[in-house]
Amino acid sequence: MRLDRLCLRNFRNYEALEAELDPGVNLILGENAQGKTNLLEAVYYLSTGHGFRTRKEAELLRFGGEFGELEGHITGHGREQTLRYLLFSGRKPRQLYLNGVKRKTQGEVAGTLTAVLFCPEDLLVLKAGAAARRRFLDQGLVQLRPRYEAALTEYNRILEQKSRILRDRFENPSLLQVLPEYSQRLCQVGALLISYRARFLRGLGQEATRFHREFSGGRETLEIPYRTVSTITDPFAPTATLEQQLLEHLEAHRTAELESAQCLTGPHKDDFDATLDGLSLKSYGSQGQTRTAAISLKLAQRELTRVDTGEEPVLLLDDVLSELDPGRQDFVLNQIQSGQVFITCCEPGRLTKAGKTIRIENGEIK
Ligand code: ATP
Ligand code: MG
Repeated sequence: MRLDRLCLRNFRNYEALEAELDPGVNLILGENAQGKTNLLEAVYYLSTGHGFRTRKEAELLRFGGEFGELEGHITGHGREQTLRYLLFSGRKPRQLYLNGVKRKTQGEVAGTLTAVLFCPEDLLVLKAGAAARRRFLDQGLVQLRPRYEAALTEYNRILEQKSRILRDRFENPSLLQVLPEYSQRLCQVGALLISYRARFLRGLGQEATRFHREFSGGRETLEIPYRTVSTITDPFAPTATLEQQLLEHLEAHRTAELESAQCLTGPHKDDFDATLDGLSLKSYGSQGQTRTAAISLKLAQRELTRVDTGEEPVLLLDDVLSELDPGRQDFVLNQIQSGQVFITCCEPGRLTKAGKTIRIENGEIK
């Protein structure tokens, strides 16, 4: 899978950009705040339909711009395709086109361009709070399973509504009548999320273990066990069973939810652990071990995407190399021999294997 050509208008700090891209390594070079990450974000947007630093479309539109445009010419699954997004200021919703034909939802164009992003925050994911790991899980899954995104959106919508009921019921006690209905629905969709996440983590874990073992010279075994709602006995069980067990947990916390006016139970509290030879990385891991494990996790995500889609996803490396010592840099670079890669970098000369160097200055290619 590769992006052959990228055109931008009024995207972030790019007024107009047209770039022909290398099928191998594209090195994006420039001083701070010139638009390197913005360029990566544009590629990411073509792949996922949203930015990676914001969920707000308005922030992607160039300051003062009336409309913005992203167009990518993509080669994948043996054919060439064109993906185009139009963004508007104000309330007008964005439009998307695949090969010139207007499409309604992101789901209809999912998989046209697959990309895996690796940024410095990913190096911290194993030490960060659970929310960061859930985001990591969700981002990985959304790429692979278009239906997961729909389920996740639905779950968050019900969660939001249920939270509002719990908050507002002091003023409006009759709301309590509809509460069981929302709880039931939450468990139903929640069971689906757990099912997806368990499978994804199992696959990711297998690959990550392999990478980490290679990385550590065969010395360390990395595992990433799934931590979900405590009443779930087997996350691979049929969703009807998961739903039932989620309801049990909810029932046990019903009074607590009413008293705290918060949704206390469900996969929105999910997490995964990372252990080296059985010891929790979060509590015992050295900085180097934690970084190595995080890199293994990311490379595993790329591998999983490759196996699942049958194509090598585009790899977006934002500033990760500068965060790594030479040994780890080499490991990452050796792992990316194949496929298309975009790497941002501030210093020239860091990377010698680039097929193409794109110099960015103030939103323009020099
Ligand atoms: P660094 O090396 O520090 O990571 P960078 O080259 O990756 O820098 P970017 O994050 O790509 O920098 O670009 C940042 C610049 O883009 C900032 O100066 C910011 O003000 C500008 N910018 C971000 N969003 C918009 C927007 N919607 N319209 C115009 N400019 C924007
Ligand atoms: Mg940057």
